[in-house]
Amino acid sequence: MTGGGRVCLVTGASSGIGRATALALLRAGHTVYGAARRAERMEPLVKAGGHAIGADVTREEDLQRVVRTVVDAQGRVDVLVNNAGSAVYGSAEEVPIARARQVFDVNLFGPARLTQLVLPGMRERGSGTIVNISSIGGEIALPLGAWYHASKHALEGYSDSLRQEVARFGVRVVVVQPGIIRTDFQDGTPRELREISGHGPYRAVAEPMARRAEQANGPDFAASDPSVVAACVVRIVAAPAPRPRYAVGRL
Ligand code: NDP
Repeated sequence: MTGGGRVCLVTGASSGIGRATALALLRAGHTVYGAARRAERMEPLVKAGGHAIGADVTREEDLQRVVRTVVDAQGRVDVLVNNAGSAVYGSAEEVPIARARQVFDVNLFGPARLTQLVLPGMRERGSGTIVNISSIGGEIALPLGAWYHASKHALEGYSDSLRQEVARFGVRVVVVQPGIIRTDFQDGTPRELREISGHGPYRAVAEPMARRAEQANGPDFAASDPSVVAACVVRIVAAPAPRPRYAVGRL
């Protein structure tokens, strides 16, 4: 199938890249369902003609309900955009493993479980597109972001393996690696790094990073708009043979 008219499910559509992507897919003529915990923040999507489902991607019952809702209404999911993401900043020594697991639950296991739920239908129809929003941090790694980097590296390895499994069924798996994008996600970084740098043995590592992040988030914050990622996803959905990886918003 080419052009508009696909049934798309976008996680994390209440904010930033996910919201911009859901709206852009809608404008491209697709049927769009957004999923996020803050359902009220998907009002712009609903007003524009899309659908919003309140859901936490770390909860099995929520994921099943999301897919059931879309399939009951539309008969299928053609495009899954795994965009919902979470991060934790802190030294690898200090971040509690329970907190690290939460990051993996959102960034890896949520996307993987949703994929399991939509794949049987895609396989039967012989078509489908799964877009996993990774990060430049899925390719490189900086100090104090071990669990975010580990989760995005894991998402990319998972995606590369999955792609080889499902290509023969007509299902495409594409990784998008945004650079620095102006969203709530970036807004949190300097504050969190500043908190880390306030104390402890990793202060010398954290302080210069916090300063750089604060400078970057100043009035001249050199970041891309979420629309660049949204436009990339729209192109991927329309492309007959997308590349396995797209880097966007790198300055
Ligand atoms: P935002 O903070 O603006 O959006 C994050 C989204 O994820 C929100 O809609 C949030 O919805 C959703 N989310 C988080 N946890 C859950 C959860 N447990 N269940 C359901 N939804 C959840 O950040 P961005 O738009 O910047 O981030 C989107 C993606 O882009 C992430 O995967 C991030 O890693 C990636 N990225 C971002 C970059 C940037 O510079 N901004 C750079 C590289 C990658 P809610 O809270 O309502 O549940």
